[in-house]
Amino acid sequence: MTRAMHAFQVREREDESEEFTLHDWRRLLRHLGEDPARQGLVDTPQRVHKAWQHWSSGYATEPADILKVFEDGAEQVNELIVVRGIPVYSHCEHHLAPFFGTATIGYTPNGKIVGLSKLTRLVDCFAKRLQVQERLTIQVASALMEHVQPLSVGVVVRCRHMCMESRGIRTPGEETVTSALLGEMRTNLGLRNEFLALAREKG
Ligand SMILES: [Zn+2]
Repeated sequence: MTRAMHAFQVREREDESEEFTLHDWRRLLRHLGEDPARQGLVDTPQRVHKAWQHWSSGYATEPADILKVFEDGAEQVNELIVVRGIPVYSHCEHHLAPFFGTATIGYTPNGKIVGLSKLTRLVDCFAKRLQVQERLTIQVASALMEHVQPLSVGVVVRCRHMCMESRGIRTPGEETVTSALLGEMRTNLGLRNEFLALAREKG
């Protein structure tokens, strides 16, 4: 067999094995020491399949579509806008374990403002992918900067990570805090402090 042909066959086998079916969830259950035919587990593969479709739906969502910009009357708005308590539900890419908490987003408009509910959807768009919290935080900030073009953007995310808490790596309830600051937030110390003070308060 030639080398190229061998490589092709290996690739084809990999492609085949990438086809993921309910059978694979049943294999996982068996691997964990369970009986997939047990009554409580019979419908589990179908349920898990649906749940993961939801938890990975962010891959099919474009930030540009979410961030339709409202310009009416926004010319006068040049104060820092801060939205707190935006829910974050994601899964870490290292363990496929949930991490969850809240995000605070602040920005200084430059003639364009964005609906508050859209900030929630923007976070969701990146959270419903396999993530690390640091990247999620930067992606939200960068998307806002790119599509709304404000003078500044700040994002602070606080989350509890199942993979760390359940294995004793972190104290239960302990939050991981990440932040991303763009535009004038980097250079304007007063603005940065105002945002970070608002982000530190809970609620
Ligand atoms: Zn993890």
